[in-house]
Amino acid sequence: MTNHSLLLRSILFSLAGAMACALAGCSTVGTASAPVSSVQPTQMPVPIKRNLGYTNTPMIPGTQWHVHDGTRPQPRIVTSGATFSHLAPPPSDAIVLFDGTDLSKWQLGDGSPAKWKVENGYMEVAPKTGSIRTKDRFADFQLHIEFATPAKVEGNSQGRGNSGILMNGVYEVQVLDCWENPTYPDGQAGALYGQIPPLVNASKPPGTWQSYDIIWESPRWDADKKLVKKANVTVIHNGVVLHHKREFTGTTPHQNNGTYDPHAPEMYIELQDHNNPMRFRNIWLRKLGEYDKP
Ligand code: MG
Repeated sequence: MTNHSLLLRSILFSLAGAMACALAGCSTVGTASAPVSSVQPTQMPVPIKRNLGYTNTPMIPGTQWHVHDGTRPQPRIVTSGATFSHLAPPPSDAIVLFDGTDLSKWQLGDGSPAKWKVENGYMEVAPKTGSIRTKDRFADFQLHIEFATPAKVEGNSQGRGNSGILMNGVYEVQVLDCWENPTYPDGQAGALYGQIPPLVNASKPPGTWQSYDIIWESPRWDADKKLVKKANVTVIHNGVVLHHKREFTGTTPHQNNGTYDPHAPEMYIELQDHNNPMRFRNIWLRKLGEYDKP
């Protein structure tokens, strides 16, 4: 064969493969069996054209920054690997919270059924139907969760691809489309919302599956309701560490500093309805357990 006909054959083969995939309903955002390209799209810094945050909010204790301070340094951009922990199979002792088929492990805040859409192996926020939370409660755990921000880009800053993973509904690890979408650093993807920006911005483009691997330890109070341990979290985003055992300064309200108010260590996990059709898939967790207590 000539080089020309080899090239033609290769193009036709690729097209046939793509068509077969389209007919079979393959995900356009990567499958476990698809070859992984080492060439990843590179996020370009976007010039900041407007005031991103707030300066009329309280100072965050121990820092020189206001809550949601737009002048706080923007995290460095890192191009993550292609598919770190995508579709990671749950270990044998994992509790599967969503396997792509139903929302039986989730509910609304009032205990009524979750109303988000489930299709093609993922759940999708049905905007304005409400945040959903796990029926069960957990104290110290390793959580795996995958998400995709909307492929159709709408809005900007906090209005674009916003959700969140909130322990007990009050300690938020931010979920946001942070691909070429400037926002205040303590509200970026993976931020401990309103407190600590991620170490880096490892976000992928809109519509692309991304993973969080989160290790969480609940706060503790003693019998006199004195705080003896703050909540802490480790967050790995697409294989890149955003936080390593960082302590929450308290709950994560908007435009204010949080507080620590006594509650049980076991808490529900909430996924936020922030009016954007965010998708989630493959959610499982493992209880951390304790050393020498098999
Ligand atoms: Mg949020």
